[in-house]
Amino acid sequence: MKSKPKKEYPIQKSKEEWEEILDPHSYHVLREKGTERPFTGQYYLNKETGIYECRACGNEIFHSSKKYDSGCGWPSFTEPIRPEAIDVQMDYSHFMIREEILCANCGGHLGHRFPDGPQDQGGIRYCINSVSMDFKKGDK
Ligand SMILES: [Zn+2]
Repeated sequence: MKSKPKKEYPIQKSKEEWEEILDPHSYHVLREKGTERPFTGQYYLNKETGIYECRACGNEIFHSSKKYDSGCGWPSFTEPIRPEAIDVQMDYSHFMIREEILCANCGGHLGHRFPDGPQDQGGIRYCINSVSMDFKKGDK
């Protein structure tokens, strides 16, 4: 069974073009919907202040002020930097029903979201692969 037609993203590139831009691990996660191993990501324990961008296209997706320690093994956030920065699609793979989080600009796979986030901050956990993001350190 195929899910509904994928939405058209502003940034469209061929497989070859993405392979040129991205390292193999980032390519696998962003373009082939892979998952980095838990507790291994470069930003899992990052507590610095700044902005997380999509590694494929530079779209700003999360701010460090919404990052929290969920204990799940991946960088976790309570909400995106702006609602329109991300796209949400239903994901029926691996015999589960999950909400997939993609970059709204290029359609790159970022991770999933789950309804088990901190209750006092909206109750949502955005569980995002480190290799899908680049961190830009800032002072706010
Ligand atoms: Zn992107």
